Amino acid sequence: MKITDVHCHHLSYPLQEPFANSRQWVHERTAHVIEIHTDNGLVGWGEGTAAIAVDAIKAHLFGRDPFDSRRIWVDLADQGWGNVAAISAVDIALWDLQGKAVGRPIYQLLGGASRLKIPAYASGLFRRQRPHNTKALTDEAQGYVDAGFGAIKMKVGLGRHYDVTNVAAIRQAVGDQILFAVDANCGYDVGTAIDVGRRLADYDPYWYEEPVAKNDVAGNIEVRLALPGLRIAGGEQLQGLSAYRDLISQRAFDIVQPDISIAGGFTECQRIEALAQAHGLRVLPHMWGTAIRLAATAHWQATIPDDPEGLCPQPSLFEFDMTENGLRTELACEPILATDGFVSVPEAPGLGIEIDRKVLERYSIN
Ligand code: CA
Repeated sequence: MKITDVHCHHLSYPLQEPFANSRQWVHERTAHVIEIHTDNGLVGWGEGTAAIAVDAIKAHLFGRDPFDSRRIWVDLADQGWGNVAAISAVDIALWDLQGKAVGRPIYQLLGGASRLKIPAYASGLFRRQRPHNTKALTDEAQGYVDAGFGAIKMKVGLGRHYDVTNVAAIRQAVGDQILFAVDANCGYDVGTAIDVGRRLADYDPYWYEEPVAKNDVAGNIEVRLALPGLRIAGGEQLQGLSAYRDLISQRAFDIVQPDISIAGGFTECQRIEALAQAHGLRVLPHMWGTAIRLAATAHWQATIPDDPEGLCPQPSLFEFDMTENGLRTELACEPILATDGFVSVPEAPGLGIEIDRKVLERYSIN
């Protein structure tokens, strides 16, 4: 099997209603999608978060065998493709092709699934421009519980009063049994993160995500040690194994959250997973993208064993983005949904999804 053609698509989906995390208002959802063709008529799809220089990648990939995915990864990195968020897209597409070539889903190529139904958490509860914001947030949270989710995540990092008021109201609304995580999107300095974390601890947050800067090893450690019993999560923005090295080896996090379209695709995420496992840290992938990233994350997360395995393992929780995004809900002919709080891993060859080209064209801004 040889690569014969490559196309890149820059996609944009305008939101009907903008929303915010602690860092920015979001008005559109964007994605960089790659499509790789081979001489046996197969097409592989991948998604990254950085633009791909199409002529350069064509010149590099033409004639190569998609089964040489690790070698291609290393060659791209060595040849100045420093942006791992672009290499991620190539890597995912190569694994899609490998699966399609042998008629197997990617989770089998990775060594087999630990689960084909992954418990999901509803990732939403953003800040919006609306009156009675706290009531709207509690209604949204209750809607997720009513839909069958046993776990939810809310945006914090929006000021001590905002965070404490809204976390308290949501905990009150959903009760004690719902797993409730909070995400500050690196919105605080160390002192503020600790101050807010201590106040939020009254409402039993399961994890406290990105309390401080993404690559601040000492800062994350300081927050973690100051908040015993509260798990610190992070890593979604990091590119490549080496970016994780000190944060994992110095135990700056309890939960590591690589994003398959940023951290380096299947090839690199398996290495990051191994490093985390060697240090006793849990890996719960980040997911914030199109149907392609959703499928890729499901295949990878399906294969991450419970650690330790046992009668009552810590749950593998899939980040299910609940916000409006046609790139997630429309791009695959059969969308991947969270049903009764679980995501089913596609079982068809490769990523197991078929791309709707009309939708691809509709949102393309190339
Ligand atoms: Ca996050």
